[in-house]
Amino acid sequence: MDKCIFCEIARHNIPADIVSENDDVMAFADINPATKGHILVIPKPHSTNLFDIEEALFVKVLCLVRRIARVMPEVLGCSGVNLFHSAGETAWQEVMHFHLHIVPRYGKEELRRPFAPVPAKEAELKETASALAQKLTNK
Ligand code: 5GP
Ligand code: ZN
Repeated sequence: MDKCIFCEIARHNIPADIVSENDDVMAFADINPATKGHILVIPKPHSTNLFDIEEALFVKVLCLVRRIARVMPEVLGCSGVNLFHSAGETAWQEVMHFHLHIVPRYGKEELRRPFAPVPAKEAELKETASALAQKLTNK
């Protein structure tokens, strides 16, 4: 496997504009920010995405995401944030080390929703919800 760029950042082998870190997680500025203050939060141990990250580590990532998001309005002047995670190439994931994007929203940026609301067929909602519910009760 090629060197993982976010593992290298986590080990301080590649520079990044670090916002916060501890032994388990790190937050740093995205080099191609969708808006001013766009931050990535990663676990330090390599996980690829939601499909393989260990639950306790995921919770640690989420706790840091929450702490950062909550200071963004005061520090950056934003009035909202979006969280974004891509799991898998099909879902646009480009860097294959787990990361959650925190994108501050100011109200004037030219961002679009990635999907438009289209009502589903009732049968499809029931079928997918019950298939997932059944699988979860077996786990
Ligand atoms: P993905 O498309 O995988 O969800 O997002 C990967 C993100 O990582 C992109 O927003 C990209 O700008 C960011 N990124 C890629 N390489 C680097 C890097 O070397 N340093 C930093 N700080 N961000 C990076
Ligand atoms: Zn990695």
